[in-house]
Amino acid sequence: MIPYSRQLIEQCDIDAVVEALKGDFLTGGKTVSDFEEALAHYLGVKHVCVMNSATSCLHVAYQMIGLKEGDEIITTPLTFAATSNTAIQCGATPLFCDIKYDGNIDDRKLEALITPRTKAIVPVDFGGNPLPIQTIKALCEKHRLFLIEDASHALGSAIDGTKVGTIADMTIFSFHAIKPITTFEGGAIATNNAAFYEKAKLLRSHGIVKKALWNSDMIILGENYRLSDVACALGISQLKRLDAFIEKRTEIAHYYDERFAQTPYFTTIAIDKTKKSSYHLYPILLDQSLWCSKEELFTALHAKGIGVQVHYKPIYQFSYYKERFGELRLPNTEDFYRAELSIPCHQGMSLEDATYVADTLLKEIENIKGCTR
Ligand SMILES: *Cc1c(COP(=O)(O)O)cnc(C)c1O
Repeated sequence: MIPYSRQLIEQCDIDAVVEALKGDFLTGGKTVSDFEEALAHYLGVKHVCVMNSATSCLHVAYQMIGLKEGDEIITTPLTFAATSNTAIQCGATPLFCDIKYDGNIDDRKLEALITPRTKAIVPVDFGGNPLPIQTIKALCEKHRLFLIEDASHALGSAIDGTKVGTIADMTIFSFHAIKPITTFEGGAIATNNAAFYEKAKLLRSHGIVKKALWNSDMIILGENYRLSDVACALGISQLKRLDAFIEKRTEIAHYYDERFAQTPYFTTIAIDKTKKSSYHLYPILLDQSLWCSKEELFTALHAKGIGVQVHYKPIYQFSYYKERFGELRLPNTEDFYRAELSIPCHQGMSLEDATYVADTLLKEIENIKGCTR
């Protein structure tokens, strides 16, 4: 099976992990701050705080802005559930804003959703395609809102050479196995705000500060969201190859762009020339005439060893959300969900793999074309 995304673990990663396993500190050691410094340097941001998942980072970010019962955040429904789940865990209500054709939040529709209860806007760089963060930042400044960017897909993405992670109040990255780089599980908050950084470190580790000798103090209610030294050793090793990973994914994406330029069956998402995408996902958007056949196509492709996936079922369609917040229908999001398939695009693939994916995809669509249901 060629999955839609996959980690690439090489000998240097294995050596790094084995070395870390032999160290004095499996967790709580210097490798953690080494990884954080390497990430900060790569991104061009002042501070990075790593945690055991992006979900933990989101939870901590919301705690840091004092998100509580009665507050609202505005986010995208086209994301993984953690983006809004963690806000609900703080007692807040997520409001969902419709998306644009490229899967990113529609920044023109944000302002109408702002209420006196709004605390933050939380957009997602869908598939690694960087969103118009400056426009959203200006809106946040105008309304005195926090901007938390869920860049779980977008480590290494950039606009005009500026990396995703330097503009928002806090930017969240994920190092889950199939994200742009991996630490098994893991995540990070990037920020230029020293106070946020200090507080993130506190919340990550029980809210406890060391005083002298055995004496410590607990000053805020925190969690254990720490990332181990072993995981960070893998992260350092992976980060060194991130640009090479992105280059490989870009090569595959550009091959697909060209191969599919003329197909009548689906469209692809063009990445603006000023932008660099991590290409965490390569989404195709099926023509409306094929929406009824998506299940059939999905199954046929899996049978041929092509592990396509759908990103994402709109969050507001989950039964928990429906029961708690009521029914919602956002037209662009609904259409995107009906049309979207993520086809394989990862650094472990060869161009021959990509050719096989493209050939098989076009052939299977031909086979089901004309289906009437
Ligand atoms: C993967 C993902 C998360 C959660 O990341 P974890 O590290 O698995 O907690 C959050 N938001 C988005 C958009 C994601 O894709």
